[in-house]
Amino acid sequence: MTNRAFKYRIYADEEAESFFARCCGVVRLVYNVALEQRSNHWRQFKRSEGKSISYPSQARELTAIRAEHDWVAECPIDAQQQALRDLNQAFQNFFAGRAGYPKPRRKFVNDAFRIPSSRVGKIEVLNAKWARVRLPKIGLVKFRYTRPIRGDVGNVTVVREANGWHVVFTCEFEHEAPANDNPSVGIDRGIVNNVALSTGELFSMPPSNLDDLHKDWQRTASRRKARSKRQAKAKRHAARIAAKAARRRLHWQHVVTTRIALRFGTVVMENLKIRNMSASASGTVEEPGTNVAQKRGLNRSILAAAWHRFEVLQSYKSEFLGGCVVKIDPRHTSVTCPKCGSKDKGNRENQAKFLCLSCGHEDHADVNAAVNIHAAGTRPSSVPEKSGRRRELRRAA
Ligand SMILES: [Zn+2]
Repeated sequence: MTNRAFKYRIYADEEAESFFARCCGVVRLVYNVALEQRSNHWRQFKRSEGKSISYPSQARELTAIRAEHDWVAECPIDAQQQALRDLNQAFQNFFAGRAGYPKPRRKFVNDAFRIPSSRVGKIEVLNAKWARVRLPKIGLVKFRYTRPIRGDVGNVTVVREANGWHVVFTCEFEHEAPANDNPSVGIDRGIVNNVALSTGELFSMPPSNLDDLHKDWQRTASRRKARSKRQAKAKRHAARIAAKAARRRLHWQHVVTTRIALRFGTVVMENLKIRNMSASASGTVEEPGTNVAQKRGLNRSILAAAWHRFEVLQSYKSEFLGGCVVKIDPRHTSVTCPKCGSKDKGNRENQAKFLCLSCGHEDHADVNAAVNIHAAGTRPSSVPEKSGRRRELRRAA
């Protein structure tokens, strides 16, 4: 079984959008109040009820609250129950040591609500461009049908992003990965928007002025009168531009990972946890890195998240097509000569060029790293014993 999410932009009138926002607010409130109850009142509750606060007890209270307050009752109960279930799961994860203590949800950060598929109508495709779906209490929601949906819908989420409202269907469908005998490849991930392949190809994201524009609008916002309408407007503008830049980066990652998945079988990447990712930005005194300010400006955690996402996209796409992703220890991949095996920091002549001091082998620095990564990942000893890939390699040797 394969899981996929299908996301479409909703085009609704102002009234509908403000109702979505109210639903998000109520769901967030239910979650936060329930969290507060669990954090602060569990002792009292246990004394009076004789048992701990659980999902069923909170769901019962929700029903009582809905009977009392119209503004809670006007929003779909399924979404509110989902919030309580999410909280229950968050606590289970916390008690099992898988996650930290649940945090309150925040406005403009957690603007979403989720409804189980059993309460959602069938998706009606209206024409080549539009489709609609009926949601409880909300009615028909029309969305831009940009790609066909596949499989059985698990649940439906309505979410606000900087450019508007979206509906996300999570689906499950049967899929048998085909046999894949495409060649293997190594990938070196650079600074957020460039990737080198061991075949010598380089992918880099086309330059854009969005990051500069975003900074301009942030500056404008900080100059305007605090908490004024005009400041809010500038902030909104900045957020919209940042979201556009993020969408563009995601799109680029989708394009690159799809191309790689279509052409190659095994894909080898470095295991990013080990690598100190901030080191390459400023370079050394003799050899300063390029775009230092730009790279430093990019929050390190955003960088890590971006590369983690690349890995996630590549894994599911490659596996879907019968390939796989192998991760290796990245130590020495940037300074090793693939021709003679010399490991020397001096081999890395500068950020862009690799020149072996022992044998004179020359290459683009990132491509050279990708070649090393490829070699490390396809060495028979590096492939886990259980996978068929290892047997295959042994047969080939
Ligand atoms: Zn060499």
